Amino acid sequence: MNNPCFEQFAPIAAIATHHQAAQIIAPLAQNSPIQLWLPASLKQQGSSQHYDNSLKEHLASIWNENQALVFCLATGAVVRLIAPLLQNKAEDPAVVVVDAQGDYVISLCSGHQGKADLLTQLIASQIGATPVITGASYGLSLPAIDIFGFTYGWRKGEGDWTGVMAAVAKQQTIQIVQEAGSTLWQEHLPQKHPFSFVSDTQTEIKPQAQIWISPIKRKIAPKKDFPRVQWHPKVLWVGIGCERGTSRALIETAIDETCKTYHLATESIAGITSINLKADEAGIIEVCQRRNLILKTFTAEQLDQVHVPTPSAVVKQEVGTHSVAEAAAILAGENLLVSKQIFRADNQSGAVTVAIAQADQEYIGRTGKLYLVGIGPGNLDQITPAAKTAIIEADAVIGYSLYTDLIKSLQRSGQIVESSPITQEQQRAKRAIELAKWGLTVAVVSSGDCGIYGMAGLVLEELQAAGWNGKTPQVQIFPGISALQSAASRVGAPLMHDFCAISLSDLLTPWEMIQKRLTAAASGDFITVLYNPRSQTRTQQVVTAQSIFSQYRQPDTPVAIVHGAYRDDEQVILTTLAEMLEQPIDMLTTVIIGNTTTRNHAEWMITPRGYLGFSQEEE
Ligand code: SAH
Repeated sequence: MNNPCFEQFAPIAAIATHHQAAQIIAPLAQNSPIQLWLPASLKQQGSSQHYDNSLKEHLASIWNENQALVFCLATGAVVRLIAPLLQNKAEDPAVVVVDAQGDYVISLCSGHQGKADLLTQLIASQIGATPVITGASYGLSLPAIDIFGFTYGWRKGEGDWTGVMAAVAKQQTIQIVQEAGSTLWQEHLPQKHPFSFVSDTQTEIKPQAQIWISPIKRKIAPKKDFPRVQWHPKVLWVGIGCERGTSRALIETAIDETCKTYHLATESIAGITSINLKADEAGIIEVCQRRNLILKTFTAEQLDQVHVPTPSAVVKQEVGTHSVAEAAAILAGENLLVSKQIFRADNQSGAVTVAIAQADQEYIGRTGKLYLVGIGPGNLDQITPAAKTAIIEADAVIGYSLYTDLIKSLQRSGQIVESSPITQEQQRAKRAIELAKWGLTVAVVSSGDCGIYGMAGLVLEELQAAGWNGKTPQVQIFPGISALQSAASRVGAPLMHDFCAISLSDLLTPWEMIQKRLTAAASGDFITVLYNPRSQTRTQQVVTAQSIFSQYRQPDTPVAIVHGAYRDDEQVILTTLAEMLEQPIDMLTTVIIGNTTTRNHAEWMITPRGYLGFSQEEE
């Protein structure tokens, strides 16, 4: 299965010219949309393709076909190879260079718009290298001004982008005037940032650059005293009513003229909305295709229930609702900005009515994703590369604060990280689903494995309760090393025979049931791993567990008590069933009770699998 984290860059070409380089980047091409290219002299097994001509010629032939190119080659060589092919930063593919030892991954070209910076971080986490990113906003841990709005589906408007970017790099004061769109990004800035959030009318601070975030289109004079840019969140819904057969040109004119008259940015249009009779209206469909807009339609009954400023009896008679354009705009966007405008053109057929409403929340226009990620016991060495890439790629990371702290070093500038206290699992699951339904890629992190007393089950249950179709939002689960594995690895090989895990927390499971399972595990001679063994208020369960096991196992049965495995405060104790309660046990502890054959040897806990026993019998 493909690692979904690279999907947004596809198609990606990776190029190596000699054997060692090929070995370094070949793993990237496994389970991912990355196509590995090698010279014909390096015929490799697997899915690599070969080029017969020179790399220069080959590169020219694949340059425009790929969104991203990854070279494992000297940076200087790459610079010379790509120099003749570079056009401009809006069109060039992302170019990333991996050094011949695989120690560094360099974002060389199209760091922002081509997303080379992000690709660099993903590749670095995948191969265990250090990312080298030289853009100013990355160094300052700030969201990149020229791309951060894309996360929320915003479109870029006019302005001096280079000038504003330079002001950010110089750490000058950047005034933000945000009139629409999500302000989530504002809540997740580093403590030190150059932005001042003031309304247009406040004049006490002197900005050195300005960013407008608005559906209003501002005319920006080229020689203003400081650079300005504008982002346009997709909050506008254009209600359209038209006669059958109205031309695409007339519909576009009607939309453009209306926007111009009311100083609205066409970039802020999320979609067109109308009556369902118009779902097959050729002119409307063409406009949507040409401008990458969605078409939302409503039934006459739905539209007729909306209170509109300009109802029409004629329209009611024709299609069964007093209003099409205004009512549809209000149903899609809520707040009517422009009431019904009628357009006709002498030289074109048909007539169009246009009304525009503004929605409170922008339309992102992407299918949201939920990554359910297990981060392992704590140390970043113990997290899978796939889980790392999932966390880095996500627009938002949600988790219990202890866990989001553990993965702090993976955080990307501009990323939304929402941490919450331990008990708020359900709120976290609901919040993650809300953000994913809106269109974001959300990583929900659990310690250990996310599907073992983690968040994966809860998120899936909440999705099911919300009528999820199994596809939207897309879900991918990234497994992690669970506490039973990490604790076991600290003491030896205690889980070498049949084992089970039992959580002693009776918050969500009746205590009678837990006792029943403890008895079954003890009598079945399962090695037993106790999760959530003791909290500050819940102290008796582990005492009962010990007494149940004492009925079935010898007092000297080995028991391991591992606190904070692979964390800074790790503590490992090997003890016995009889003495285990004398040891410190808390909520960050995992207890492993051996079976009747488990034994200690030196400082190691071993449960025989039976190999030695069997071979002796056979002899
Ligand atoms: N999803 C997690 C378990 C969460 S339940 C996993 O797969 O590991 C929380 C319990 O896990 C804790 O009460 C403790 O018993 C155990 N635990 C989690 N991390 C641990 C660690 N680093 N060391 C020891 N026990 C741990």
